[in-house]
Amino acid sequence: MKCVLCDGTLKNQVTFRELLLGSEVKNHCCDKCHSQFQRINPLFENRCVYCQKLSQETICGDCQYWETNDMILEPHHVLYEYNEAMSEFMSHYKFQGNRALAKAFSYDIHEAFKELTYDIVVPIPLSKKRLSNRGFHQVEQLLEDACIPYVPILKKRKHTRKQSEKTKEERLKTIHPFYIEPSDYPTITQKRIVLVDDIYTTGSTILQAKRYLLSKHAKKVITFTLAR
Ligand SMILES: [Zn+2]
Ligand SMILES: [Zn+2]
Repeated sequence: MKCVLCDGTLKNQVTFRELLLGSEVKNHCCDKCHSQFQRINPLFENRCVYCQKLSQETICGDCQYWETNDMILEPHHVLYEYNEAMSEFMSHYKFQGNRALAKAFSYDIHEAFKELTYDIVVPIPLSKKRLSNRGFHQVEQLLEDACIPYVPILKKRKHTRKQSEKTKEERLKTIHPFYIEPSDYPTITQKRIVLVDDIYTTGSTILQAKRYLLSKHAKKVITFTLAR
């Protein structure tokens, strides 16, 4: 087995459990490459209690803004800091479209989901245009390689007109960029959902999707991203 990032050989130790149960989910990433990524550990750093951003304040500026805009804030689940290594990873994975790289974090994601209590997993959608340009959905690919089943029911609205051409009032009205087909409403009703994206920046995308799912009677929405 090779490291998907540097092509170096991975120590291929087959465990007794694997012999018995078949292959387990692994990071296809060598220790040297893996050590370039910075795992977020809120216990040892000053981070925002909600979004885990490095912050001297208990609640960061972004989250204070969301609070005043009636977003329901709860601690966000995130694995890695968006450092130089993660930025480079994303540029190869997303922008150059190397889908094999998703396997670099399969074990990390698989293990993190074991800690969560939920009924279904819903990925943040891509627009059709992005999907056809990239050839794969970067969030679904991460989940598939981590052996996490998901339901791709959240859809992205097509922009009929450019945001910049709309009046401020029109923009506020179309603030929900997401929707679910009415036939899929029962899938989320009273369900505990993990909403997954690749990167958390200000939270705008994932929090809007969360608010939408709650408005459609999801019981609870946990947000999860690979990086922030
Ligand atoms: Zn490597
Ligand atoms: Zn925050």
